[in-house]
Amino acid sequence: MKYFIGNWKMFGVPKSINILKKINFFHLKDRNRNKYKIIITPPYTLLETFSKYFKNKKILVGSQNCYQKDHFSSNTAAVSAYMIKSVGAKYTLVGHSDNRSEGDTNEMLKNKVIFALKNNLKVIFCIGENKIEKRSKKTFSVLKNQIIKVLEKKFNKDNIIVAYEPIWSIGTGKIPTKNELKKTILRIKKILKQIYKKKSPAVLYGGSVDGNSVKIFKDIREIDGFLIGGASKSSKKFIDIIKNYYR
Ligand code: PEP
Repeated sequence: MKYFIGNWKMFGVPKSINILKKINFFHLKDRNRNKYKIIITPPYTLLETFSKYFKNKKILVGSQNCYQKDHFSSNTAAVSAYMIKSVGAKYTLVGHSDNRSEGDTNEMLKNKVIFALKNNLKVIFCIGENKIEKRSKKTFSVLKNQIIKVLEKKFNKDNIIVAYEPIWSIGTGKIPTKNELKKTILRIKKILKQIYKKKSPAVLYGGSVDGNSVKIFKDIREIDGFLIGGASKSSKKFIDIIKNYYR
């Protein structure tokens, strides 16, 4: 199973559901539709309406983050996995570089994963090195650290998806070379197999994925799907990615 996950970030109002209706319509008619899942992570404000609308349809809905405490707390603006689940969402992103750069620590991320899984949300766990770490050849040690500090073997690996997003590639149009990316995905899977008894959770790639770059990535069969930022805000761009992947 492949995944095409659209991360809307700070984008979208109620009428933006029209973008998803078009994607859903495409999926209904696509002869490859059984080969992949579509997940969209809109802002919190749209989680309930989108989850309800797509309840029995093919688009799955997730949040972009969740708080590191369970149920209710006195933290202003915090939203827990319990609250997210209660409005019908099925997934949550954890550890996006935007949030790591705003202060999310490994300890906080681990709690987010724990409470997300406890509340039956599947987790899309984001990892990735920055430009300086890449230049100084620290990519693998950074990724390994991000994984082992958060993902425990007691977690159910079937409820976890790992998204490799090199920070220097997010929103920049810069992408890793095919060889480089294949090597990195294999290294990530190797680390995950050490934790999860020889079986790796799905590992996705994210960073400037569009209808063109996906043509390069599709040759790397170890990639289990894509986390798509900018291009997920347009139904045409998002559909082009799926079309070109299976072309
Ligand atoms: C992201 O923010 O997760 C992302 C991958 O963005 P983009 O596709 O725009 O690079």
